[in-house]
Amino acid sequence: MHTYQPSEILIEQGEEHTPVVQRVLTRLPHVPVRLVEKDWERKTPVASEHDPFAVGKRRLLFTRQRSPFLEHCPAGTSGLVCCNYFVVSLISNCSMDCSYCFLQEYLANNPTLKVFTNADVLLGELASAVDRHPERHFRIGTGELSDSLALDPLLGFSADLVPFFAARRNALLELKTKSDSVSGLLALDPKDRVVVSWSMTPPEIIDTEEHGTASFAERLAAARQVQAAGYKLGFHFDPLIEYPNWEEGYRDTIERIFSTIDARRVAWVSVGSLRMTPALRTAVRRRFPRTRILSGEQVACGDGKWRTFQALRVKMYRTITGWLKEAAPTVPMYMCMETAAVWEKVFGHVPSSDKEVARTLTQPNLVGV
Ligand code: SF4
Repeated sequence: MHTYQPSEILIEQGEEHTPVVQRVLTRLPHVPVRLVEKDWERKTPVASEHDPFAVGKRRLLFTRQRSPFLEHCPAGTSGLVCCNYFVVSLISNCSMDCSYCFLQEYLANNPTLKVFTNADVLLGELASAVDRHPERHFRIGTGELSDSLALDPLLGFSADLVPFFAARRNALLELKTKSDSVSGLLALDPKDRVVVSWSMTPPEIIDTEEHGTASFAERLAAARQVQAAGYKLGFHFDPLIEYPNWEEGYRDTIERIFSTIDARRVAWVSVGSLRMTPALRTAVRRRFPRTRILSGEQVACGDGKWRTFQALRVKMYRTITGWLKEAAPTVPMYMCMETAAVWEKVFGHVPSSDKEVARTLTQPNLVGV
């Protein structure tokens, strides 16, 4: 796993004395630091640079989040089966560089790796949503606009988030990662309210498409460590990548995971197909001309995204969920960003409502094993 070293640290005026900035300045004493004015990124053109997205990842900008932190996951708005998941983002962009990453399109105009300095505001928003609705169960993740843990050794946000969720019975935090940066979690007591989840692909895909991430063996070792420290685990086979040996690759991957960790402590497993907008495909071709992910059979779908064509997609889902059910029969499983028709073909039923999926994933008996 690579340790992130930005080319420079940019601090918006007024944010220089915030706790996270002070922590990072102590931990990266040799990196050049510049104070910049508010809205620096919007006023600084990136178009002339060779690969603005890559350049953006190397700049670490500290700024305030001026919009609400708590948002509904985008799957809830596009007519797909939804698991009622909420996201909060303390970081925008990622230190790693997967060839298929949707951020290449989503953050194309604002690619600087940003860290928001007002985590106290985020915790206030969470408290007001979660504590005002004790009858509801919330699943909240931080891995939407960045990796949840890759920068944690530098930023230390888990030290705020884990105790917050540990103190509440009606909310689960999901920390989703492709890193092995779990050292900040080990001394905290999650009290069964925190799920640390890994996106998993076969090692040959990790090595060629998930640049700068932890290796398969490193992810698995980190999963064992956090499980021993009292955390629930999750695994996301998302995106599923079709390649010549995909069946062998995914079967071995699933066997290795479930012979290493305790399946009874896994809160959920998801599967999802590779999905890309036309603009993302263009960005991927430009940035990763040798990638294999665009060589499979993909078709344009109703929501404008390209996916592996449905017959092959369903075959992959059925095959992989079949192995998962054998390896971990009691673990709840769901599909991400899929239609009711595909749910029916893969699981033989469609959840009667979005709430049914959400309820399955937050049942106290599943999260309290
Ligand atoms: S780890 Fe996630 S956020 Fe980071 S580059 Fe890969 S897909 Fe994108």
